Amino acid sequence: MPIKMEGMEVAERIREKVRQEVSILNSIGIDVGLALLLVGENLSSKQYLSATVKACSKTGITPYEYRFHENVTINELLNAVRAINNDERIHGLLVFFPLPKRINGRKIVNSILPEKDIDGLGSTSIGKFASEESTFQLYSKSDEPTIRSLGFLPCTPFGVIRLLEHYKVEIRGKHAVVIGKSLAVGKPLSLMLLTKEATVTICHRETKNLAEVTRQADILCVAAGKPNLINGDMVKEGAVVVDIGINILDNGKVTGDVDFESVSKKSALITPVPGGIGPVTIAILLENTVKSAKARL
Ligand code: NAD
Repeated sequence: MPIKMEGMEVAERIREKVRQEVSILNSIGIDVGLALLLVGENLSSKQYLSATVKACSKTGITPYEYRFHENVTINELLNAVRAINNDERIHGLLVFFPLPKRINGRKIVNSILPEKDIDGLGSTSIGKFASEESTFQLYSKSDEPTIRSLGFLPCTPFGVIRLLEHYKVEIRGKHAVVIGKSLAVGKPLSLMLLTKEATVTICHRETKNLAEVTRQADILCVAAGKPNLINGDMVKEGAVVVDIGINILDNGKVTGDVDFESVSKKSALITPVPGGIGPVTIAILLENTVKSAKARL
């Protein structure tokens, strides 16, 4: 049986540090605040929001929820972001995706002050990371991050790196295959793996012969949002498989993009869904929020 890379343990370690830092900030009269902006009724966004609120309560961070109807206008959203930018109580803002198609998500994300862009998806944060104003160490003795950026690093891809490091997966020199090229997950993850000196191949919905590519992966990261996209035949013996997908099936069950049953027969390490990358993502979000509060000091 492969080693299951559980996110809870890593998340708890990060949260413990967050708790300590929040309590130090509280002791000097600073409350740490995180704004959560949700549009519409997307089920997985709503689950993500409630999991984040729960994590906030465990660490002493105050969540501020901004919920909007599906029909909200872009100007209303931009006004909300402006108000959050100017709100001293708030140190970070997370916008839940997907937004309705008629709303330009990039415009919304880019209107967040870079100091409050704790999900690291604004062009300034991405630019700082991509233009090598970031540093990295190859190894870390503890769970301290080994990639640093002058801006915030996107939480989900950074969660993948932190989980791999926690399980002592060697990244340097390995062939990492990333499925998905979104700005939130696939693209920044590819860049992070490259920073850690992997050889990286990026696949997407137009990639021909996907299985041929995935079979070459020492580390396979899947973020497509397609249940069972990857099965055992598509994975090399001994591969490390990270399933980032979150899909809510008609029966309400949450599943990833990887057929765990068949893939776990071949992989050396594999993440479960739920309980893999999800909890780490949220912990890093809180970590970034505290970082923002400390930076303001
Ligand atoms: P997205 O829809 O923006 O991007 C999906 C990507 O997958 C695209 O680049 C597309 O080309 C590729 N793709 C789709 N079908 C494919 C196929 N058949 N073969 C190869 N590539 C294919 O989605 P996203 O925001 O990147 O999210 C991806 C998944 O990760 C979703 O399931 C989402 O819910 C999940 N997610 C999880 C977390 C977490 O914390 N675990 C955070 C964010 C997103």
